[in-house]
Amino acid sequence: MALLEHYVKMILAAPVYDLAICTPLQVAPALSLRLGNQVLLKREDLQPTFSFKIRGAYNRLAQLSAEQKQRGVITASAGNHAQGVALAARELGIKATIVMPETTPELKVLGVRSRGGEALLHGPSFPFALAHALALAERTGCTFVPPFDDPHVIAGQGTVAMEILRQHQGPLDAIFVPVGGGGLIAGIAAYVKYLQPQIRIVGVESEHSNCLQQALLAGERVILPTVGTFADGVAVAQIGEYGFQICRQHVDQVISVSNDELCAAIKDIYDDTRSITEPSGALAVAGIKRYVADSGARGQTLVAIDSGANINFDSLRHVAERAALCTAVAQA
Ligand SMILES: *Cc1c(COP(=O)(O)O)cnc(C)c1O
Repeated sequence: MALLEHYVKMILAAPVYDLAICTPLQVAPALSLRLGNQVLLKREDLQPTFSFKIRGAYNRLAQLSAEQKQRGVITASAGNHAQGVALAARELGIKATIVMPETTPELKVLGVRSRGGEALLHGPSFPFALAHALALAERTGCTFVPPFDDPHVIAGQGTVAMEILRQHQGPLDAIFVPVGGGGLIAGIAAYVKYLQPQIRIVGVESEHSNCLQQALLAGERVILPTVGTFADGVAVAQIGEYGFQICRQHVDQVISVSNDELCAAIKDIYDDTRSITEPSGALAVAGIKRYVADSGARGQTLVAIDSGANINFDSLRHVAERAALCTAVAQA
């Protein structure tokens, strides 16, 4: 409980609303009807930069000393954290350098540059970009801003849970949270389990990057030998250390889903909101569908974190094709 209380205090004090907005928590009517449960979407795709990542990035940068701010910051990111850091740094007048893997969608690279960040493309995947960023931080004296493995980043992301509990007064049965490096779910689990421990916290991972599921099975933070990048926002090979400390005790269940289930969930979200999410952004909805099918849950109130909308327009053709196939199989 002492650990949770420590995080709850940091969450309550996080100055994220200098930059982030309190996003809507809205019913998904068609999905709710179809699943026989009330499904609520927490619309983090509507944040500036189109993902929740500005919460953690801003909270982390706000804690820097005047001297650290003066020297600048550096980070490595598959994309959304990069845009969050670039925007937060511009807001606070800090110089930001961001190292991204060469596979990063162009839209996310442009997102960094248009927000005044210096984007460097390096290496075939996140670990290479990370190593390069750490070496640069060492050499230049800039402060490294971790994408998920940091208490202030976790606390910033945890403000999502604070909003959900204020926005929904009635009982909630479960909150479904997409998992990459575990910053978002750790912040949410810390806040919810401290205040309302009866609410289930369910992590949802891509089956191609299920590093939390594997770590929980092994009882330690394993490194996945390969990581799929379709859900590029969660393409992480090892769960963060700070996040795992919370998740191993306070996450009730982890579900992993396929890329086709993600495509189908992007369509479900579109049908209910007329908004398009990126693959990682649709993880939680895909997780709810899987959970309801496996458990037979009925009449429950289930929240999905709709975490981001940064998808290249060109990828939509692939998503639409796969979603159509999934629906055809489901109806056969
Ligand atoms: C970063 C990200 C996640 C996962 O967050 P972690 O804190 O790394 O677990 C989920 N969805 C989107 C859109 C993201 O950008």
